[in-house]
Amino acid sequence: MIGAIIGDIVGSIYEFNNHKTKEFDLFIKESTFTDDTVKTVAVADFILDEHGNPGQPRLISYLHKWYKLYPNESYGAKFTQWIKNFDKIHYVDFEPYNSYGNGSAMRISPVADSISSMKACLENAKFVTEVSHNHIEGVKGAQATASMIVLARDEKDKEELLNYIVNKFGYDLSSTVNELREVYEYNETCQRTVPEAMICFIESTDFEDAIRNAVSIGGDSDTLACITGSIAEAYYQEIPEWIIEETVKRLPANIKRVLFNFYEEVQSQYPKIAELIFKYTL
Ligand SMILES: [Mg+2]
Repeated sequence: MIGAIIGDIVGSIYEFNNHKTKEFDLFIKESTFTDDTVKTVAVADFILDEHGNPGQPRLISYLHKWYKLYPNESYGAKFTQWIKNFDKIHYVDFEPYNSYGNGSAMRISPVADSISSMKACLENAKFVTEVSHNHIEGVKGAQATASMIVLARDEKDKEELLNYIVNKFGYDLSSTVNELREVYEYNETCQRTVPEAMICFIESTDFEDAIRNAVSIGGDSDTLACITGSIAEAYYQEIPEWIIEETVKRLPANIKRVLFNFYEEVQSQYPKIAELIFKYTL
């Protein structure tokens, strides 16, 4: 989860001002969390509160609650229109909007971080996604991201990770980061964000390098780095302390509280990272 938030904050200043090299400051004064973080926190908050009372309408109420707390964080136009209607329409009649936007993959990391079996991961990713992104590509983007996080955490062979994703989801992961940097353009769909984010992780040497790869290809930088960061966190299991410190100090108290509570739940999966989260969110 924190890997996603780090990617969002680092990428925030490059989304509309692409920076096609790996040389840049990870954090400047203007670096800030955006919609990617808010939606990820909403999903984590829902998972933490879910005990014995799950349900998709409740999940939407969490997305709505966090949207209302932070309504100006560069949400997509369609998401904004959809979530605003939650005020007007009774929740049982609230329909998904058939989205295949990369929003489904940007918010999915808490599902994968809090689960151990692949079967449950795929089911829960679908459950969380189809409240809004019920298009087949929207569900696929979230399931592929979530399953790569679970595999990255539990399996350490990148070749196997890659083969699993290619065979199960049919994504083309054959490009290199250098090739993407030449041709990639702004795109907010799952099908043109998730594979690219995965390539940026596969080619990386550590967590920071993965985030630098993601920003360096351009495009929807905050969301790309968010998805890449969520996978890289699971795989490397270590994030430099100063990066966590810089990230957490840019978060408001209510988001820090969710982070703390979430890492209490998942600390056996992420022991080193959880320790740093506790240190900076207390
Ligand atoms: Mg964003």
